[in-house]
Amino acid sequence: MLTTRPRPFRLTLVHPCVGRRVGMKRYIRTWKMEPLPAALIAALTPPEVERRFYDDRLEAIPYDEPTDLVAISVETYTAKRAYQIASEYRRRGVPVVMGGFHATLCPDEVMEHCETIVVGEAEDLFPEVIDDYRHGRPRKSYRASERPRLGGVEPDRSIFRGKRYLPMRLVESTRGCRFRCDFCAVQSMFDATQTRHPVDRVVAEVMRVRRPGQMIFFIDDNLTSDASGAKELMRALIPLNVRWVSQASINVAWDEEALELMERSGCQGLLVGFESLDPAGLAAMNKQFNMMRGGPREALARFRRFGIRIYGTFIFGYDNDTRESFRATVEFCQQEALYIAAFNHITPFPGTPLYQRLEDEGRKRWEAWWIDEA
Ligand code: SF4
Repeated sequence: MLTTRPRPFRLTLVHPCVGRRVGMKRYIRTWKMEPLPAALIAALTPPEVERRFYDDRLEAIPYDEPTDLVAISVETYTAKRAYQIASEYRRRGVPVVMGGFHATLCPDEVMEHCETIVVGEAEDLFPEVIDDYRHGRPRKSYRASERPRLGGVEPDRSIFRGKRYLPMRLVESTRGCRFRCDFCAVQSMFDATQTRHPVDRVVAEVMRVRRPGQMIFFIDDNLTSDASGAKELMRALIPLNVRWVSQASINVAWDEEALELMERSGCQGLLVGFESLDPAGLAAMNKQFNMMRGGPREALARFRRFGIRIYGTFIFGYDNDTRESFRATVEFCQQEALYIAAFNHITPFPGTPLYQRLEDEGRKRWEAWWIDEA
């Protein structure tokens, strides 16, 4: 008797772009780095499931290609575009599961645009989502009750094959941050906690993904949130002879041992959030630690002594800012010769204390700016 093998379950992963400006044909251009969350979801998917991956920043999404389930990781900036993509699939009868920062911080809204929502980190939930869909018993929502232990799975970067990304190798060593900056979605998402991948796993991953001439980018929210953990990683990196960059809070400038280890382990630069040069502005942001000891100028002098280039970011628009704040900030960046400086306007991300405060004070101009048509 002839038996037919059941067709494998098909999962389509989509990484949305940030969409278009009103009236523009082309999508807004952003840095095209490998989207590690999609590779993590791929790694959490059983090998017998057929997976495809489309990066909306790089290619057209073939909505008519047959698939059984679509998974989209949603950030606030990509929410509107993610909803457009989801509606294309849903009107073709394909169910959509959504997770990521925005799904966790704004679940009620996200739930309206998908069949299933994953609230919290995916590690302990996504295998169950897939299993439930394969067995025809999907739920509307899956919620993480606690933070997962990291290190169980390594992102499956095979999904990136054939796509043209920036020549930079992304690795995660920690997730979250212990600080509670007023505007920051990271502290809301992880409740001001940080989890770490075991150092030996990070080192093994770095060894596997490194390529000649390419930098390692530790995509951690704040690599040095836990200085002792960061030092352990840096000590382990020294023999590898890699060059790396990451993001860190300014307080690490006062830790001489950490700076030495950065230099010895190949740190080329750090993104540091200076945010404001005004102590009252920093107080409003709950980021007074940026003024500790000698403040940002002294911190920059210390980074320079160890050859660490600084990509400084600033926020304008808190209540104390005036026209003078712009000039003073730009002058500061020029005088200090920052490697890169980025100036952002105040952005109330949902779930943050800033967002709540503006809401309480009746100062929000849009209910949800991330999906507003204007
Ligand atoms: S230090 Fe950075 S990552 Fe941590 S809460 Fe503040 S802005 Fe967010």
